[in-house]
Amino acid sequence: NVPLLKISQLKKYFEIDRSQVLKAVDDVSLSIQPGETFGIVGESGCGKSTLGRTIMGLYDKTGGEIEYNGQNVDQMNADQRFRLHRTMQMIFQDPYASLNPRSTVLEIIAEPMEIHKTCKSARERKEKVEQLLEEVGLNRNYLNRYPHEFSGGQRQRIGIARALALNPEFIIADEPISALDVSVQAQVVFLLKQLQLEKGLTMLFIAHDLSMVKYISDRIGVMYLGNLVEMTSSHNLYENPLHPYTQALLSAIPIPDPDIEEKRERIILKGELPSPINPPSGCVFRTRCPFVMDICAKKRPEFVEVEKGHYSACHLHAPKNERVIVHMHKRA
Ligand code: SF4
Ligand code: MG
Repeated sequence: NVPLLKISQLKKYFEIDRSQVLKAVDDVSLSIQPGETFGIVGESGCGKSTLGRTIMGLYDKTGGEIEYNGQNVDQMNADQRFRLHRTMQMIFQDPYASLNPRSTVLEIIAEPMEIHKTCKSARERKEKVEQLLEEVGLNRNYLNRYPHEFSGGQRQRIGIARALALNPEFIIADEPISALDVSVQAQVVFLLKQLQLEKGLTMLFIAHDLSMVKYISDRIGVMYLGNLVEMTSSHNLYENPLHPYTQALLSAIPIPDPDIEEKRERIILKGELPSPINPPSGCVFRTRCPFVMDICAKKRPEFVEVEKGHYSACHLHAPKNERVIVHMHKRA
């Protein structure tokens, strides 16, 4: 199967000044199959939004490759790029900031269709906008209202309708629920899941914790300081997390099932997230890792396939040390 998106050793560095470089995304590799939802999880500042924006082409990459549908984006001509911008759409974190307050709902959702000239007339565009409003669970009569007239959840639905206006095949959702009340977060996730199934969308879903991402993602990648540290099916990530950072993230989620609660110990990470400007040598997680060893400062752990389809970057599970990994997160 040709992945819809394949990124290899992707890097996005920002030059702070002559001597300092912020390595926002450092050597990230992953592929996403058509129809799949891939979740990216990590604390703020881990580079997950930069990863999404670099894939979208909103930032120029510093290194590595991006392939879309088997084609290297660097080798695309202007026409192919324009089409790529149509087929790849983004949903933003903040539905307050991402919608122009002076535009009506009709103008906001119709704009991409105007730019890409996908409708023959203004009337056809209006009909398409009405249909999109319905698809995202909003009233068709909202056309002439302004963003401030809506709740956060409704605004995010408008953002989703806008992202769907060009019939995209790939959606990057950058923390689409983080700015919303907890009570509406699940509704928006369910809407995205439903739209994804109906339209056969492929999705990169970016989240700052592991609480909702499980319900929407087929696979999940965990990022820390610009690095992908673990990647596996979402089921497996919750059942058998290998990387100490993933284990810490999971231990922070309350589990309603008392049987599981008993086995899972809360791991409190020491210290703060280090700056990505001067990341720790060796393993980027070593300053906070409860299992840190001498080698961790000297050598960057490789991102290896520890078991089928399950990747982790940690010296504890280099294949020869396999015995060390068994359920460290559970009490003996
Ligand atoms: Fe912890 Fe070392 Fe593994 Fe990094 S490589 S996660 S510091 S044990
Ligand atoms: Mg972000």
